[in-house]
Amino acid sequence: MNEQKRIILKRGKEELIKKRHPWLFSGAIDQLEDTLEEGDVVEVLDYQHQFLALGHYQIGSIAVRLFEFEKCAIDNDYWKKRISEAVQLRRDLGMFNSETTNIFRLIHAEGDGLPGLIVDVYASTAVIQCHSIGMWNNRVALAEIIVELLPTIQSVYDKSAETLPFKANISPKNGYLIQRGTPEKIGIENNCSFAIDWETGQKTGFFIDQRENRKLLGEISKDKKVLNTFCYSGGFSIYALLNGAREVHSLDSSQKAIDLVERNLDLIPHLKAKHTSIVADAVPFIKNLKEHFDIIILDPPAFAKHKESRHKALQAYQRLNERALEQLTDGGLLFTFSCSQVVTKELFSHMIVAAAMNVKKKVRILYQLHQPADHPINVFHPESEYLKGLVLQIV
Ligand code: SAH
Repeated sequence: MNEQKRIILKRGKEELIKKRHPWLFSGAIDQLEDTLEEGDVVEVLDYQHQFLALGHYQIGSIAVRLFEFEKCAIDNDYWKKRISEAVQLRRDLGMFNSETTNIFRLIHAEGDGLPGLIVDVYASTAVIQCHSIGMWNNRVALAEIIVELLPTIQSVYDKSAETLPFKANISPKNGYLIQRGTPEKIGIENNCSFAIDWETGQKTGFFIDQRENRKLLGEISKDKKVLNTFCYSGGFSIYALLNGAREVHSLDSSQKAIDLVERNLDLIPHLKAKHTSIVADAVPFIKNLKEHFDIIILDPPAFAKHKESRHKALQAYQRLNERALEQLTDGGLLFTFSCSQVVTKELFSHMIVAAAMNVKKKVRILYQLHQPADHPINVFHPESEYLKGLVLQIV
């Protein structure tokens, strides 16, 4: 093994790492070697040169993404062991022999102890999305390990071009790392079929994190009139239609997203007449909404990416939620979400209390929602708990 490159921390800056937080911020660094390049594996030492952890170095405020807290060799066997652990969890969760679901998250970055790496599975294709140069440098080896461990995976697609740091001196292109035959671009989730386009779609192609919440909506949407805003490919809408909703309206500001909704509706042509697609900005749409609905879904993108924008984001969430509450029928339900890492569960609940007070409605919480178990939360990294939702009822 080559001599490991090293980073030495300032005195007192080792505390977070000792608590196994997987991010080392650049302000904590005292010395780093001139030869250090983005993507290198680096050993992090405290001010007395005692070993703390190993991670991938990158230029930026998160300087090292830490994946190992014991001294060991970082080679392909290491990655294989870590990926096997992620595979085992999904096996335990029953994801590999499910007859009703073949869409799931195989690797959830920090939640699986692999910061910078997301891998989603759609039927026989795995889509890799790297958020760090270190993981991206390893992408071919990672893809080979995935097909070795999972014989059902025929293709591995790399979708990292938009998620890698722009400062890095690389020019990533999306494309197949492994391709055997023509990939099947239809997946199933809780027996609902979806057309998944990892090449042109948002994220890795689908918002897998809403799987359980879509199932819940399906269970209570019979005979209901549903408005699904920020709908992307219409996940919630398809569940509602398949479960007997009276009518479903799906709204997204992206025409491409609505095209995906239409493709998913083509898979259930007998229910198309109950559906309306709307391309519009949800903010003015909801502001001016006159119609009433039995169920409204609000699943906006992360309005706050940083703590500095959190206050404004909460105000925007509140305005949307107030208007949605006003447009519900008596007994109606609001499925409301935030996927901003910086908006905590507590802040989200406070915002809902303020919204309910402002619209002078009696509102109660029926369900508290979150990300599913294939998106595990690293307890040392509270930021990995990002998806929160509530099902509210107007009494
Ligand atoms: N609920 C979806 C995922 C939503 S992702 C699912 O289950 O799959 C957020 C979506 O909001 C994206 O599709 C994005 O195109 C859309 N969006 C972003 N800003 C918007 C706006 N101002 N108005 C309407 N849609 C918006």
